[in-house]
Amino acid sequence: MNAPNRSGSKPVTPEASTNETGVQTVSGNRGLMLEERLIFEIGTGETTGVDLPQPSPEAPNRLGGLDRSAAIGLPGLSEPETVRHYTRLSRQNYAIDCGIFPLGSCTMKHNPRLNEKVARLHGFADLHPLQPEARVQGALAVIDELAEWLLALTGMQAVAMSPKAGAHGELCGILCIRAALEARGDPRAVILVPESAHGTNPATAAFAGYQVEGIPATAEGRVDLAALTARLGPDVAGVMITNPNTCGLFEPDMIAISDAVHAAGGLVYCDGANFNAIVGRVRPGDLGIDAMHINLHKTFSTPHGGGGPGSGPVVLSEALAPFAPLPFVSRQPDGHLHLIEEENAGEEHGQAFGRMSAFHGQMGMFTRALAYILSHGADGLRQVSGDAVLNANYVLRSLEDVLDAPFAHSGPCMHEALFGDAGFAEGIATLDVAKALIDEGFHPMTMYFPLVVHGAMLIEPTECESRASLDQFIASLRAVAERANAGDPLLTQAPLLAPRRRVDETAAARKPRLVWTEPTGGDTAAA
Ligand SMILES: *Cc1c(COP(=O)(O)O)cnc(C)c1O
Repeated sequence: MNAPNRSGSKPVTPEASTNETGVQTVSGNRGLMLEERLIFEIGTGETTGVDLPQPSPEAPNRLGGLDRSAAIGLPGLSEPETVRHYTRLSRQNYAIDCGIFPLGSCTMKHNPRLNEKVARLHGFADLHPLQPEARVQGALAVIDELAEWLLALTGMQAVAMSPKAGAHGELCGILCIRAALEARGDPRAVILVPESAHGTNPATAAFAGYQVEGIPATAEGRVDLAALTARLGPDVAGVMITNPNTCGLFEPDMIAISDAVHAAGGLVYCDGANFNAIVGRVRPGDLGIDAMHINLHKTFSTPHGGGGPGSGPVVLSEALAPFAPLPFVSRQPDGHLHLIEEENAGEEHGQAFGRMSAFHGQMGMFTRALAYILSHGADGLRQVSGDAVLNANYVLRSLEDVLDAPFAHSGPCMHEALFGDAGFAEGIATLDVAKALIDEGFHPMTMYFPLVVHGAMLIEPTECESRASLDQFIASLRAVAERANAGDPLLTQAPLLAPRRRVDETAAARKPRLVWTEPTGGDTAAA
């Protein structure tokens, strides 16, 4: 268990320190970084990290006339120069192994090394998806056992294992809903999505060909049940609801919502990316949900970031199970594990809507997630959600006197603490606070999401943080918040201590300069 909250953590007594830039940090963050130029700028064509023997003059030339006529301009460096270049670059990267990664909605938790060890076992790591079934019974057993755990934890009927991330799982679930409605000759055009939803929800519904309509939130940050039920009708295919929602709150009306949607002939999709807050405590199947994706890379600790890899199995209700995509692992009466594909789908899977991916899914994530689940056990998983919620409430209550906490009056939060920018002085924005956290040595929190809170800051500490590491983070954020409330103009220039100062984020996203051109004198560092 990663639950050092009870004892043993030393309290942190932060001492603000000032350096020559005038920046005060509470964390004691200090730069120890050289300016790292591009490898093309530090390497030369004359240096090489390897010594190759000169070819013998008699050796036949086997290039068939394709010999290079000139050097191709690859940078040459010695081995230590190369190692240092990439190691220094890697140290400019922030990772969960460096410190708390407080991104809300992302569940950036510790990746236990045990999982890594298991995933690297030759028998798992070196498989090919086209190997004959008899040779991969162990791998199929991992998929089957993980599927059983996911069904037990969610109380659902079936699970499609192949979707490769949360958003891919959403698409899978919505395609199941569409297939079920088409099968009963009742194609409906509209999917309802609450205002606070993750952007992937409306994107998924639109991608699957649905019209998306928003449902307002109440002042408590929850789905407005009356507005939702008023909109239900024969054109509504279903709803997509995140529970716990992206304001970090549990939707207590979930059963009433499901009942109303079902009574109106629709189906209920639940975005299960926030499952970490309720795992081992609430079974979505008991809330009337028809489809829900589980982000193995969030709740079950498989590493993510930088765009992948993810894994998003989708659990399905009895109503949707027949439409689940292939393939399926099925245990035969003799114990043999068998892959159900198009040619042997039989009656049970004859209505499958198709496939989400060519093969079984993210095998490397399955092994990691199962290792995580088995090493925690059911009780351990229950403690995961308890500790995650405790940590988030600790952050919320420790900072609500210096940061606007719009839903703090709604009671305890779930796994993430949500703040807004209401208390900041004129001219100071959430972006400035996020950038100043970099000067403190922390990755910023999620900002400007969810949209229902002005200047939102969403912080998800997960269960992995000790009291000491939470106190250190809270002390830094408290100091930055106090400067924001007092209107410290230096904040608008943060980060001052990072290898790069503030960049133009719009231009960086919209007009990225991806090609390096040799500087023609002057400012090379800007390239
Ligand atoms: C992370 C997340 C998703 C999307 O998951 P990906 O694996 O990034 O595609 C969807 N909804 C919520 C609430 C999330 O937090």
